[in-house]
This record gives sequence, structure tokens and C-alpha cells, in this order.
Amino acid sequence: MLIDTHCHLDFKQFDEDREEVIKRAEQAGVKYLVNVGADIRGSEESIKLAKQYENIFAAVGIHPHYAEQVASQEIQHIEALADSRKVVAIGEIGLDYFDHNNPEVLIEKVLQSKQQDVLIKFIDLAARKKLPIIFHCRNAADDLLAIISENINIENSAVVHCFAQSKEFLRKCLNKGLYASFTANITYKKADKLRELIAYAPLDRIFLETDAPYLAPQEKRGTRNEPAYITFLANEIARIKQISQEELAQVTTDNAKFFFKIS
Ligand SMILES: [Zn+2]
Ligand SMILES: [Zn+2]
Repeated sequence: MLIDTHCHLDFKQFDEDREEVIKRAEQAGVKYLVNVGADIRGSEESIKLAKQYENIFAAVGIHPHYAEQVASQEIQHIEALADSRKVVAIGEIGLDYFDHNNPEVLIEKVLQSKQQDVLIKFIDLAARKKLPIIFHCRNAADDLLAIISENINIENSAVVHCFAQSKEFLRKCLNKGLYASFTANITYKKADKLRELIAYAPLDRIFLETDAPYLAPQEKRGTRNEPAYITFLANEIARIKQISQEELAQVTTDNAKFFFKIS
């Protein structure tokens, strides 16, 4: 039994065959899915999916890409959504300084600080709602750590999703009590550094996720990712950790159930 702790089945890439995708996940042994909101609409859709399917849970939040559009009204909206049944986390929220228009540079400083302001408000919201946090972090490791240090206390739990940062960042996150969730980019041919991180991360602090529709595993590269493919990731992590697939499934599922308070 596996849990896909981070997918986006509300995205239009699944409009044609959402039902079958969910069925295939079940057949592949994925017992639960956490559908993660990237904006208000996505958060609402996540809740809808969670109401419709017993095995789906929802996270509500706004991706840092949209930080510019976030004012107090949007925070209040997410706060109201967080009270829905089956909402198990606030996310994805975080920092993303990658500039899609110009990958050579980071986004402007004003935008970086806007993302930081929004993030702090969401961390605050998660604390009030007593919900764990799903962090998205790209090209902003130091700033995320600084914010975590100042704004997260030990009662908050948080995970850095799609973990693809440095070993040093992983070490610091673990020291602060965070979890790391890995996705199928660790199966890519050139991902030796990521595989080293897997070897380093303690088993009791990692989750599995697909981030579907993104980041299909090596075997399916170039196609749409879906929760059923999480088995490729699970097999690769079991191989790196030199444990059985059953044990890996058991441990990561227990971690995720504990974190999201899914019984
Ligand atoms: Zn993300
Ligand atoms: Zn995501």
C-alpha cells in the first residue's frame, strides 16, 4: 500500500480520463492520494475531488508563482476552505525564484519579497488551523530556511515537496524537523545527486509523491505522469535503500499517515 502525497488531478491534463486515472492508481496499490491546490480554483477542485472519492484527501494553498495576486481576501478564502472535511494540509505554498522568462536569472527582488510575505501569512494560517504544511521550494533554499527558522515552531509539521535541493539544505530541513518528499525525477539518468540524497535521508522522514501531471518517471518520460506510476519511484527508493519494496511501502505510508493524520 502506497500514498501519493502530492498530485494535481484537478489539472486539465486529466479532464478526459480522471476517473480511469484514479482507478489505475488504486489497482497499482495506491491507497490514498493527496490532491494539492496550486491556486484558489485548484484548492476548491481538490476539495471537490476529496468529497467525490473516498481515497482522496485535499491540501489547500496558493503556489508562489501566483503570490503577486494574493491579498488578504485570498488568504481568507483559503482559510475558509481549510475548514472543509478531508483537508489535510496547507499547500502548496513556498518560494520559487526561478524566472520562466529568463532561466539565467532569478525573479526580481520585489517579487521575491512578495512571495516571502505571502508565505509567512500562510504559515501563520496553518498554525491557526493546526494543519501541516506542504512547501514548494525552487532556487530559494536559504530564504525558505530563514523563514522556517523564524516562523515555524516544533508543533508545526512541514514537508518540502519535490525535493531536489542540496544535501546541505536537506540536512538543515531534517534538523528543523521537516520531512522531505521525493518524486520520480530521482529515476532520471542524470539524477545521481538526487539518488545520493535518498541514500542520505532517514527512512522515517521521507514520503513519496508523483507531482502528476509533471515529472513522469524515466520509464514513462515525455508522457503525462499519473499516481499509478508512483511504483517506479517506490522501486527505485527501495533499491537505493536496499530494503524490500514492501518495507519501503510500509514505512513511507506510515510516515504520510502520521503527517497528514490520515487513519
Ligand atoms: Zn511544487
Ligand atoms: Zn505540485
